[in-house]
Amino acid sequence: MKTIAFPVPAAPATGTVRPSITCIVPAFNEAEGIAGFLNGLCDHLAGLTSRYDVIVVDDGSRDGTGLEVIAASGGLPIRLLSLSRNFGKEAAISAGLEEASGEVVVIIDADFQQPFHVIDEFIRQWQQGYDMVYGLRTNRDTDPPVRRFLSRSFYRLLSRWSSVDIPADAGDFRLLDRRVVTALKEMPERSRFMKGLYHWVGFRSKAVPFTYGERHAGTSKFNFSRLFDLAMTGLTSFSAFPLRLWVAMGALISGCSLLYAGFIITRTLLRGTDVPGWATLAVAVSFLGGVQLLSIGILGEYVARIFTEVKGRPNYVVAERHGFGSDTGHGS
Ligand code: UDP
Ligand code: MG
Repeated sequence: MKTIAFPVPAAPATGTVRPSITCIVPAFNEAEGIAGFLNGLCDHLAGLTSRYDVIVVDDGSRDGTGLEVIAASGGLPIRLLSLSRNFGKEAAISAGLEEASGEVVVIIDADFQQPFHVIDEFIRQWQQGYDMVYGLRTNRDTDPPVRRFLSRSFYRLLSRWSSVDIPADAGDFRLLDRRVVTALKEMPERSRFMKGLYHWVGFRSKAVPFTYGERHAGTSKFNFSRLFDLAMTGLTSFSAFPLRLWVAMGALISGCSLLYAGFIITRTLLRGTDVPGWATLAVAVSFLGGVQLLSIGILGEYVARIFTEVKGRPNYVVAERHGFGSDTGHGS
């Protein structure tokens, strides 16, 4: 009998293996608190392993975040990647992943909202053999109620419409094994919804509940329009349901109009023609007009994504690199 040999996956790390850790910190206008944050983070990581490094991705900050990082990096394994403008958190994380060299990669925000001690638990779970360990927020109290409501509704829609299971209260705060990082780096798409991509690649994953803290300095960078943009990227990248919805709507409306046509023909045959019916006509025309505009709009959203993909522009442009051996930047 012929046997097919599949490549054997790397044995899961168990026991007390101490991995080399690369921490990716996306930062946009975080000058006020970043130095304290980096000191605290490095202190904590040094307690976990002797082999760690931190990559700060300055996402086009205009408040001197980059200079603060350089000042704070003296004697610490901190590297800085400055993007040429603000490309958004998803792009900043992608840029960090491209440069990360650790056996495990931890993504963490620069604002102390994700407590350092959770990283210990991430590592413990990785030692148990999990490839991806993600933080699950147990409290959303720090978010304004409207954001909480919209976020919950968005994830409810996404889980119903998409075949990928994306946990609602998980964010970018997570540990990724090298295998996951390699898989993520192979994804060529331009419209990047990281929370979806993490789970699309699969692998053994585990949630670690944690309490989201208060921001130590600065303010949240996500306003309504940014969140809406991210939600549209998420929905259109991970679900074709909005398109299918209009097929169903079209079928339903056509079915109804056929029935209505049958009714009018029968009535005309039996009772002759009469003039009334303007109201019905006006409602039908305006309703259908609305439905058509909406469906064209949704189609447009997808076409816009296709356009972005086809242009094939890089997700980000690196302007400067500090601590990478060469200080000249290049696009990726
Ligand atoms: N961030 C970024 N680029 C952006 C927006 C945000 O790199 O365009 C960073 C930001 O500096 C922070 C992290 O992403 O380190 C999370 O942002 P924020 O704290 O504003 O989000 P929230 O906690 O409100 O979800
Ligand atoms: Mg935050």
